[in-house]
Amino acid sequence: MLTAEQLEIRAMAREFSRGEIRPHVEDWDTERALPEEIFQKLAELGFLGMRVPEAHGGLALDATTYLTALEALAWGDASVALSLSIHNGPVTRALLGWGTEAQQERWLPPLAAGEFLAAFALSERDAGSDPSSLAAEARPSGDGWILDGTKAWVTNGDRAGLLLVFARTGESRDGISAFLVPRETPGIEVVGRDRTLGLSASETVTLGLSEVFLPREAMLGAPGEGFEIAMDALTIGRLGIAAQSLGIAQAAFEHALDYSGEREQFGHSLHRFGGIEEKLAGMAIRIAQARALTLEVAAFVDGDGGPSEELPSSLRARTAMAKVAASEAAMWTADEAVQIYGGYGYMRDYPVERLMRDAKGTEIYEGANEVLRMLVARHTVRESAGAE
Ligand SMILES: Cc1cc2nc3c(=O)[nH]c(=O)nc-3n(C[C@H](O)[C@H](O)[C@H](O)COP(=O)(O)OP(=O)(O)OC[C@H]3O[C@@H](n4cnc5c(N)ncnc54)[C@H](O)[C@@H]3O)c2cc1C
Repeated sequence: MLTAEQLEIRAMAREFSRGEIRPHVEDWDTERALPEEIFQKLAELGFLGMRVPEAHGGLALDATTYLTALEALAWGDASVALSLSIHNGPVTRALLGWGTEAQQERWLPPLAAGEFLAAFALSERDAGSDPSSLAAEARPSGDGWILDGTKAWVTNGDRAGLLLVFARTGESRDGISAFLVPRETPGIEVVGRDRTLGLSASETVTLGLSEVFLPREAMLGAPGEGFEIAMDALTIGRLGIAAQSLGIAQAAFEHALDYSGEREQFGHSLHRFGGIEEKLAGMAIRIAQARALTLEVAAFVDGDGGPSEELPSSLRARTAMAKVAASEAAMWTADEAVQIYGGYGYMRDYPVERLMRDAKGTEIYEGANEVLRMLVARHTVRESAGAE
């Protein structure tokens, strides 16, 4: 159950979505860009520092409140939520978990104040589900490092002020390191801008890194800790994607509910027909299931839920379960919403086709669902072997 404060923050996020996001979503989708002002407005309410401690200017929200707010913002627009999720999720987590005091002091206050966005540059064209095979390199040079390579599908990649870049400093998975890279560093260039199926307003770019010099203190964590940092950061990241998915699903459900009440065929509103009732009930059930799982994992992250003897690997498996359940609930719900709208649902003039396009992305990024199922299965097998 959410506390009064959590409900208040959720209400504030919903209100913001209703007033400042929803009226513009169609335009942003068509223009394939989010305006700078939306991030300024979000920053004024603290939504760019949701997980940052108060000492660094953030709201210091617990995971439950953060995810509840993120869902309400995704209900407004999934592209806005994706930007926020990367910024508040994996990048902030990596800084909090692995940053030195100096790194935290340098980066957390401007991130929380919304001076600029953050981006997470792990994937490469040939290293998506298997980031341990990434090829970008960082080689020692004088008092620092020189980065070379190409990073693919970087959300916020052009407008961000801070890039968390993963590059190879040695062989294998243990040879990957993480770097805090100011976006304006010479040698970083947008070499491709992707045209996506959905989440069209979200910025997805390919970044070229050519002879990018970084001082020694740009490394986050120790040499070779990059893979662990990325996986740790993606734990909260995947919960963010679960919340984003729930926002999409909730929006699709509400649109379908309203439309089926207004649309008449055979002399009755659609939602009087058993076939439509069944769909609406199914949507409500899947959303509630996925939300319950997401909030259960969030409570565990907050330390007030879940069996306390669980290992971090179990947390990763549960996070993966929540992301899979929520993204599939979003895709399925959006599909059903399009079906309930009938021919109108297939038209660009109505919101549900956009939600369906947006939902598809959630099944792919921050761990494609097939790969996350493998993670869950491995954990389950290990757990059952341990129980024997
Ligand atoms: C809109 C968008 C935004 C993104 N933003 C970012 C970002 O900000 N930062 C970033 O680093 N990355 C980002 N990504 C990249 C994303 O994380 C990857 O696309 C994702 O991890 C999948 O990698 P891939 O595309 O290379 O697919 P592949 O790894 O080639 O996989 C293709 C298919 O095969 C399946 N598959 C792969 N391996 C296995 C296996 N062992 N068993 C069974 N099935 C398997 C996958 O599940 C998938 O269905 C973004 C992607 C998109 C679409």
